[in-house]
Amino acid sequence: MKTLDTYNFSGKKAIVRVDFNVPLNDKFEITDETRIKAVVPTVKKILNDGGSAILMSHLGRPKNGPEEKFSLKHIVKRVSEVLEAEVKFADDCVGEQAKELASSLEAGQVLLLENLRFYKEETKGDEAFAKQLADLGADVYVNDAFGTAHRAHASTAIIAQFFTDKVCGYVMQSELDNANKILNNAERPFTAIMGGAKISDKILIIEKLLDKVDNLIIGGGMTYTFTKAFGGEIGKSLLEADKMELAKELVKKAEEKGVNLILPVDTLCADDFSNDANRQIVERGHIPADWEGLDIGPDTTVKFADVVKNSKTILWNGPMGVFEFPNFAKGTEGIAYAVKEATQGGAFSLIGGGDSASAINNLGFGNDVSYVSTGGGALLEYMEGKTLPGVAALEN
Ligand code: AMP
Repeated sequence: MKTLDTYNFSGKKAIVRVDFNVPLNDKFEITDETRIKAVVPTVKKILNDGGSAILMSHLGRPKNGPEEKFSLKHIVKRVSEVLEAEVKFADDCVGEQAKELASSLEAGQVLLLENLRFYKEETKGDEAFAKQLADLGADVYVNDAFGTAHRAHASTAIIAQFFTDKVCGYVMQSELDNANKILNNAERPFTAIMGGAKISDKILIIEKLLDKVDNLIIGGGMTYTFTKAFGGEIGKSLLEADKMELAKELVKKAEEKGVNLILPVDTLCADDFSNDANRQIVERGHIPADWEGLDIGPDTTVKFADVVKNSKTILWNGPMGVFEFPNFAKGTEGIAYAVKEATQGGAFSLIGGGDSASAINNLGFGNDVSYVSTGGGALLEYMEGKTLPGVAALEN
């Protein structure tokens, strides 16, 4: 796979798949520009070499063609400020106007195309649509959108076949390097912390990790299926009844492989699914009938944190509870502190996208951990051992 540092963009026009899928408020202001900042080094490398860049991205999930609230025009000004370069904008990602703007692009200039997902052909991986993007006149294709690399979309994978020169961007490269470090080179003890809502979403990664880790901490909504499987009372907590056998098997497999699988010992439960619900802490498996577990309890937080602080490698994916409700965020915050402390003590910590990344960033710990992934789903699929179409397309 060609990396940016081995490619000279002088006199070349690059079409770059970026991930500008940023959250906007009702005034169309960007509320988190992490993803824009992330691609700056890639775009600057192209411009500093004496090349020009056509940037393409999706934003949100438009259903049926163009929608004002998903237009990338709202972010042009900020992208220009962050890149410290003029950014032109094409109202349509393909067609005559886009072609003209692309062909008049000079060295050091940037063009941003309108939302790719205004065409349903994008997510369908339509070859003719990918060809239209390729025909905008770029000499080289760069993919720096790790967050969509697990999708075989027109702009993330299919387009690559129309280019001889295909290059992996810096974001994509560091995501792969960090994931590989965890997968192939983890210093021990290696602890994985898995949280979030469901076992079914995490089963493949959990099975894969059982071959790699020393400790597997399980928190979040998925713990109640384990508790119920072993006869505990979980009240109205999240339950995947059809996964109870699987939960038992995972516990058995962990034993066989000598992995320390650690489940909560207590639960913070609520009489309603709301921040203001009445709360009580109960021992694991003792949740009253009309109550539901919404966070790990204080003893669990201490227990999990101790394991984390004694680890040399940490992978964290998924919150320990409904951290969107401040009253049920303490468990997730406690783990975030522990990961930060372990990192300060020399551990390597990788935060796997999505909610655990928001938790770390909201606490202001983004720079206190080793790496915060930009791609939740893509990272999990990569770690499960699946081929990511966006990565494979750069290799051919
Ligand atoms: P995931 O996308 O699978 O990582 O799940 C993240 C979601 O799981 C978050 O929105 C949390 O609110 C939710 N979650 C975590 N713990 C619980 C719980 N005990 N009950 C219900 N939802 C939970």
